Amino acid sequence: MLILGGGFGGVSTAHHLHRLLGAEVDITLVDRRTHFVMGFRKTMAVVGREPLETGMRPLEALASQGVRVVRGTIESIDAAAHAAVVDGQRIEADALVVALGADLVPGAIPGLAENAINVYSTDGVGPAADALASLQSGSLLIGIFGAPYKCPPAPYELAILCKDALNARGSSASITVFTPQPGSLPVLGQAGCDVIEGRLAGQGIGFRASTKIERVEAGRVVLAGGGLPLEDDIAFDVLFAVPPHRCPPVVVDAGLAQQGGWVKINPRTLETNHEDVYAIGDVTAVMMATGQPMPKAGAFADNEGRVVAERLAAKFQGKTSDAQFDGTGACFLETGSGEAMVVRGTFLAEPAPDIELTPPSKEHLEEKSVFERERLDAWFGTTR
Ligand SMILES: Cc1cc2nc3c(=O)[nH]c(=O)nc-3n(C[C@H](O)[C@H](O)[C@H](O)COP(=O)(O)OP(=O)(O)OC[C@H]3O[C@@H](n4cnc5c(N)ncnc54)[C@H](O)[C@@H]3O)c2cc1C
Repeated sequence: MLILGGGFGGVSTAHHLHRLLGAEVDITLVDRRTHFVMGFRKTMAVVGREPLETGMRPLEALASQGVRVVRGTIESIDAAAHAAVVDGQRIEADALVVALGADLVPGAIPGLAENAINVYSTDGVGPAADALASLQSGSLLIGIFGAPYKCPPAPYELAILCKDALNARGSSASITVFTPQPGSLPVLGQAGCDVIEGRLAGQGIGFRASTKIERVEAGRVVLAGGGLPLEDDIAFDVLFAVPPHRCPPVVVDAGLAQQGGWVKINPRTLETNHEDVYAIGDVTAVMMATGQPMPKAGAFADNEGRVVAERLAAKFQGKTSDAQFDGTGACFLETGSGEAMVVRGTFLAEPAPDIELTPPSKEHLEEKSVFERERLDAWFGTTR
């Protein structure tokens, strides 16, 4: 089996394949990174709670589960042949799982790369932490520059935790978050957006919906729409950016997704239109009954990986599997003071998604650390 990508989806698939088939099957996992780390660790590091390294695990540790880990860049994918070229070497298999995530593209907005810190990349963590630590006054702007983007509550969590960090230091700097979407978390409907936006307001954090950006200049973002007076643009001293996301070009070039789109799959079986080729996680677009896309989150990629592993394991053993993905998943939203809310549910429920936003509690924050600990321990053992 060939797994492309060693993030949430790829690692989960490898782990469950090994759990189901043991040494019966050869599993190869390819990634250009050396380590796995969960997305929310970036936020924890930016606000100075814990270094990123605390949550990192070497992909190499998967070798103890019989997984051959190949470090390299996937240059092309031949879906029909279940093959990929990695740093010039062709790797072939009986089945292929594409779990290559979403690329972050700051270059899609003029001036963004030069004038903002990408808080969704590990490279942005250090500069963002330094900028936050030295911000004594002025304004921090947190901008969502495109949708869909990973873990929709994460930028709001970042704003709340940054505000706590500034308050703790007696900094008078202000924080504003903006999104191109009509509300903070459209997947929750108006009532849920009101809860999130009420919390932001209660903590003195500014919020702007439906804010689309044409370009970024030193100290200000210029709104799209043209002809707006200067005072309608948003000024900043520090800009933290969630850049536009896109399907990795290697996936588009393989014909698995259209330019500007994401991989289309059977949302229940995770199959692409090639036999024994699956795609999971952020690289895919799955529509909910509302017609909105299901959010991109590690919890979904993890659950999808388990379903794919069950289907592949059954096929390998000459059986059939009725394992299906039901859209179950959750994202955490820390609200400060040692508490968190959870956005959770069965996002692919019919006739409508079944999603709840829980009130904040200490138990939910504990649930978040259990979510991480259980997976890191199961996937990588106790290796650090
Ligand atoms: C700040 C933040 C907070 C988050 N909080 C949460 C949360 O609370 N709960 C939650 O469920 N999710 C959360 N997420 C989202 C979560 O991290 C993603 O949705 C998840 O990682 C998607 O998993 P994936 O396997 O699809 O892709 P990824 O985990 O991104 O893995 C894709 C892998 O493919 C590799 N790759 C891509 N292209 C190539 C190539 N050409 N060659 C070699 N390797 C390649 C990449 O290096 C990467 O390791 C958060 C994300 C961020 C940024």
